[in-house]
Amino acid sequence: MSMKKHTEPTDEEQRLLAAWRTFFETHCKADFAALAEIEDSVWGFEIQWDVLEAHQGLGLAFMSDRQKCLDSGTLVLEEQFALHNLEPRPVIRIAGFSELNRYHIEDLRMRDRTRFLRFDAVVHSISRAMGWLKRSAYSCRECKHEWIEKEQLARARRKLEICPMCMKNGIAFLRDGGKHEDLPDPRNFGMDLERNYYEDVQYMELFDPNSLRNDELPEDVPTIMAVVSDEYVNQFQPGQCLTVNAAIGLDHLPSRDYLRDTRRILRLDVHSVEEGFSLHEE
Ligand SMILES: [Zn+2]
Repeated sequence: MSMKKHTEPTDEEQRLLAAWRTFFETHCKADFAALAEIEDSVWGFEIQWDVLEAHQGLGLAFMSDRQKCLDSGTLVLEEQFALHNLEPRPVIRIAGFSELNRYHIEDLRMRDRTRFLRFDAVVHSISRAMGWLKRSAYSCRECKHEWIEKEQLARARRKLEICPMCMKNGIAFLRDGGKHEDLPDPRNFGMDLERNYYEDVQYMELFDPNSLRNDELPEDVPTIMAVVSDEYVNQFQPGQCLTVNAAIGLDHLPSRDYLRDTRRILRLDVHSVEEGFSLHEE
């Protein structure tokens, strides 16, 4: 087994990183200078879609693998923030997506799962701010290996049985004629609470602007649950009109009373929010 995969980016990843570097150098120099006074701990760094799309395949990279594209962009943005002595942790928020991504909340169905879409929406209600364990950290007491596991929102935490490094070393050891009883115990690892990473999130119930009657906030209206994170937490109020750019995810019924319930509801995993509608008149 080669370690190369884990330590060095592939050619494709290199290209992506290089594209992000020239993107920030070309388009965002002035933004970095203006951010010098910011004291927030998290900063949503807004990028316009048409500018991104025109730059060295970044638009295509975003649409074909959003997470990968954003992860490499964030890596480069963090370098830039460090270079400019900016304190906050940056989060990339791409806004102004094309109308080709336009959709209506009331038209959403299961087949839309995993799509990335743009909605006009009105905030119906918001939950309290909460946190979730986004990345859990482990360390091995035998081989001192430290690693990170990515978790999923509102799903059971990953169940780990053995240290991957002890496992890898063990296989090599046995292959070289080592004895089974001389192997360290690969289950002798634990969670490293200090290095666990929690993300701030908040649930918002959103509804379609078509349900707006005069100026009153309707009481009984079909809503969809949206999850916002980081700097968006506690930023919005009931009645507020928004443009939401989100991936369509799945969630359990909030009221499910047995564990293996197969029913699911759609959820908006919000990437970015723009104030005001972009399609409907307010
Ligand atoms: Zn180990």
